[in-house]
Amino acid sequence: MASITLKPGREKSLLRRHPWIFSGAIARVDGKPGPGETVDLLSSNGQFLARGAYSPNSQIRARVWTFEQQESIDADFFRRRIHTAHVARTLLKGDADAFRLVHAESDRLPGLIVDCYADTLVIQSLSAGMEFWKETIADILLEETGLTTIFERSDADVRELEGLSSHVGILRGTIGHSPLTITEHGLKFYVNIVEGHKTGFYLDQRFNRLRVRELAKDRDVLDCFCYSGGFTINALVGGAKSVLSVDSSADALNLCRENVARNDPNSSRDSCHSVLEGDVFQLLRKFRDEGRSFDLVILDPPKFAPTAAQAEKAARGYKDVNLLGFKLLRPGGLLVTFSCSGGVDAALFQKIVASAALDAGADAKIIEYLAQGPDHPVGLNFPEGAYLKGLICLKS
Ligand code: SAH
Repeated sequence: MASITLKPGREKSLLRRHPWIFSGAIARVDGKPGPGETVDLLSSNGQFLARGAYSPNSQIRARVWTFEQQESIDADFFRRRIHTAHVARTLLKGDADAFRLVHAESDRLPGLIVDCYADTLVIQSLSAGMEFWKETIADILLEETGLTTIFERSDADVRELEGLSSHVGILRGTIGHSPLTITEHGLKFYVNIVEGHKTGFYLDQRFNRLRVRELAKDRDVLDCFCYSGGFTINALVGGAKSVLSVDSSADALNLCRENVARNDPNSSRDSCHSVLEGDVFQLLRKFRDEGRSFDLVILDPPKFAPTAAQAEKAARGYKDVNLLGFKLLRPGGLLVTFSCSGGVDAALFQKIVASAALDAGADAKIIEYLAQGPDHPVGLNFPEGAYLKGLICLKS
């Protein structure tokens, strides 16, 4: 088997069972492995540390499959790992028929995302190793779940870093109906798995949407970056007095309107829902200048900083939008604010929100910390898996 020998002193992360080897830690590659092929990872004095997938084009030159020397990397290996992830979801998925079945490194399957939307699986392969095993994994996923359709959404930017081109299309079976319909906490949502964001829906916000439902009663709600209306519909069902949903994408707003109508067909409530297309940063400034105010403001922006290198620029974006959010809140109002940027950790996010409140002249306190749902676990050896941070702040 091909092998990678590490430089002296560079074994520490593997000994802590972190699954990534960066190019700078490598002394030597023996045996000419191709992209995605299995390599042994050896200490500087030749001892076995782990076995992983080689990725010649990426800064993350290898991702660990196993730390057990006797474990071979073959179809049975992936069958065991996928089975373990699936069994965990019977505990973690709650009453939803849409959930994350495999959460990459945190399910010890680096580079693999699998989301389940009712009877359809959507996979994202994000690493050379995953690409190498993709067809095997597709067969195992069908075997394990008893489903027949897999759609591939391997169009995330991070594929470029692995030297992989984007790929979107059917991997197994056929899709009969698009958009699909899923059920979450008793609500129905249309999900566009072909063109929607990520794999179609922000599954990671499932329990946070429910929390908004509980907090929305009799409040005027502003749902910023609303996408297909997850928070909006929960706020309406929770008895909000009004909900204004803002997004820059017309397609997202159309889906949001359809989702509202679907959950409230003859709605007397429709009149209290409106959508507005535009840039949140500009619209919130305009609202501030017009003296508009709300009782609950939701800020769920897209990823401003995928890595720590962009953290500073991202921090300005978060500060700006949170400052405006605080300004628009009435006394007693709630700010529900998120960051899904891997490059901004929970402590930094809290600092940014604190400084936004200060500059807005708002006296506010954190009443709840939020995170991604339990079907998006965080491996204890992989803190990078904790990407979604949220705060609920109460303004005095
Ligand atoms: N809250 C949503 C997910 C938000 S995803 C949910 O729970 O499903 C981020 C959304 O922000 C996307 O729909 C994208 O179209 C929108 N967006 C990105 N930049 C924006 C901007 N500057 N102004 C308004 N919307 C923006």
